[in-house]
Amino acid sequence: MRDIAKLPVLLKGLHLSTFHQLWESLADQAKNDNWSHGEYLSSLCEHEINIRQQNKMKRNLKKAQLPTGKTLSTFDFSHTPNLNKAKVKDLAENTLWVKNKENLLIFGPSGTGKTHIGAAIAYSLIEKGMTAYFTSTTTLVQKLQADRQKLQLPQTLSKLDLYQVLILDDIGYVRKDEAETHVLFELIAHRYESGSLIVTSNQPFSEWDMIFSNHAMTVAAIDRLVHHATILEIITDSYRKNQSLKKN
Ligand code: ADP
Ligand code: MG
Repeated sequence: MRDIAKLPVLLKGLHLSTFHQLWESLADQAKNDNWSHGEYLSSLCEHEINIRQQNKMKRNLKKAQLPTGKTLSTFDFSHTPNLNKAKVKDLAENTLWVKNKENLLIFGPSGTGKTHIGAAIAYSLIEKGMTAYFTSTTTLVQKLQADRQKLQLPQTLSKLDLYQVLILDDIGYVRKDEAETHVLFELIAHRYESGSLIVTSNQPFSEWDMIFSNHAMTVAAIDRLVHHATILEIITDSYRKNQSLKKN
């Protein structure tokens, strides 16, 4: 006879918290349903793995800092008839483009749902086990610039590499200051073929000379972004404006 009184301590020692939580109730079930020892063990393992994956996903969602409530289930595709719904769903459900370190660029006027779609796709990718980080481009660029002054830019860029998807929201809102645009270019060059970017922009490429400080840099940045990229363009009225018109 084995002494099972020590089992809780042993399971804790092995960091098998779900085993610890479920071994007794599943043992009852195993007895009732005549499971073999192997079946009992495999059921415990499955529960342990499932709970670990769920916890990891929750941690990744928290780290991603996505705006709340922006998921595909809350997005009204009837307001954006030109947006290819099947394509958006594919980007959200098929992680291959992220594994291939490709980009997603979302264009459209203000208030048309670019941030919502970008965040919703990222949310779904995290549910599928990917990692992502959402930030306004301006905030990130200011941080990168401050880190460069502290000679810590390479470390910060490496930390961002931990995220498979980096969402640069509103790239057009970066101030046209030589140092800021340069650091934005460095970020884009650094991510090129090393991690995916989701970029939202109110301005079409033809106006990106406003973002970067010289034309050569604009061309080089666009070149890197579009090399392996899907481009979505939203052509519609502002959702915000429509909602308030309806209200009034
Ligand atoms: P953009 O980034 O293009 O300026 P947002 O994504 O911030 O626009 O959208 C503005 C607001 O309207 C947000 O609250 C967003 O959730 C909402 N919104 C925009 N488009 C839609 C849509 N098609 N369905 C539901 N909500 C939408
Ligand atoms: Mg936006």
